[in-house]
Amino acid sequence: MRSIVILGSTGSIGVQALEIIAANPNKFRVVALSAGSRNLPLLIEQAKKFSVPIVGTTADRQVALDLAGDIQVIDGPLASTEIATIPCDIVLNGITGSIGLGPTLAALGVGNKVALANKESLVAGGDLVMAFGHDKIIPVDSEHSALYQCFLAGKSSEVKKVILTASGGPFRDRADLSGVTVKEALSHPTWAMGPMVTINSATLMNKGLEIIEAHYLFNLPYSQIEAVIHPQSVVHSMVEFIDGSTIAQASPPNMKGPIAYALASGDRVAHATKPIDWTSTHTWSFAPIDTNRFPAIDLALRCGELGGGLPAIFNASNEVAVDAFLSGRITFTSIVDIVEATVQKLGSGSPIVARNLADVSAIEDDARRVAISLLP
Ligand code: MG
Repeated sequence: MRSIVILGSTGSIGVQALEIIAANPNKFRVVALSAGSRNLPLLIEQAKKFSVPIVGTTADRQVALDLAGDIQVIDGPLASTEIATIPCDIVLNGITGSIGLGPTLAALGVGNKVALANKESLVAGGDLVMAFGHDKIIPVDSEHSALYQCFLAGKSSEVKKVILTASGGPFRDRADLSGVTVKEALSHPTWAMGPMVTINSATLMNKGLEIIEAHYLFNLPYSQIEAVIHPQSVVHSMVEFIDGSTIAQASPPNMKGPIAYALASGDRVAHATKPIDWTSTHTWSFAPIDTNRFPAIDLALRCGELGGGLPAIFNASNEVAVDAFLSGRITFTSIVDIVEATVQKLGSGSPIVARNLADVSAIEDDARRVAISLLP
């Protein structure tokens, strides 16, 4: 029986994790949950359903207490950080955005293992997170879960490169991206995810973030990380070994596979996700990414190579730009423009070093301030 703490339990990853746990009551036990203020009733409902004694929320304390009954409530902006330190076998971090970094560091700091769906933890604070050891993090991101599984086929000294697959998002084949609407950008062809990740998939910013994530997670130089368009999203990523052999991990697109694999620390949970149906015909296609239409990839590689605070700036300015796009303030193509301009402005001076969470927060605040100043 593995004890599980879920951060961001009302989000897409959290909800699916609880479905896996509900289907495997003899494998997993939920010891604590946390979520933002958006869906407090669901958080309390989840806690009651899974008999969870303690929850964390950023919602109003009195409202939370009124709903919670005899469930203990931790409130305030650091609620998830506190919940992350509860001793358990795995902390699943399903928080969206770089606010997930503090809880990741807090969990690792007390010796908890982290199933990491919050890629921003690695993008904004990769050096800080990985300082706790590579065996402390199990990736939940489908591509990195795939790489983790493919790596088992050889020695790390035998790895030539890794190839992340990208669905290409809804605009894979659209030549002109200038008139893209919010609604169009929010309708992802293969994956159902939260709004931030969905927009990031449409700009391919998500793949850029994932390249940086892979760099930290697997200790690979950027020259050994590539991305390729694979519209069907069945091959989740690949590792090429020095003998010319490529190992791929494949399953129909469904986050339950990687979530279950991480919750079980690399054990396989029966029926976690539907397998490929070989009684029907499949076509899997692969194509290079058009970096002219999707400049996010080259920008991510540049920020990653420069390192220091640049990946954090890249991510924080993107969060500002995506919010501005979702609220109708800027056009779709302006998202990457704003990130590029912010990186340009802040990255030209002496290298920025992030020694701790406070440094990362300061770098991000700067990036947000500059990105906001660049909005129309
Ligand atoms: Mg992914």
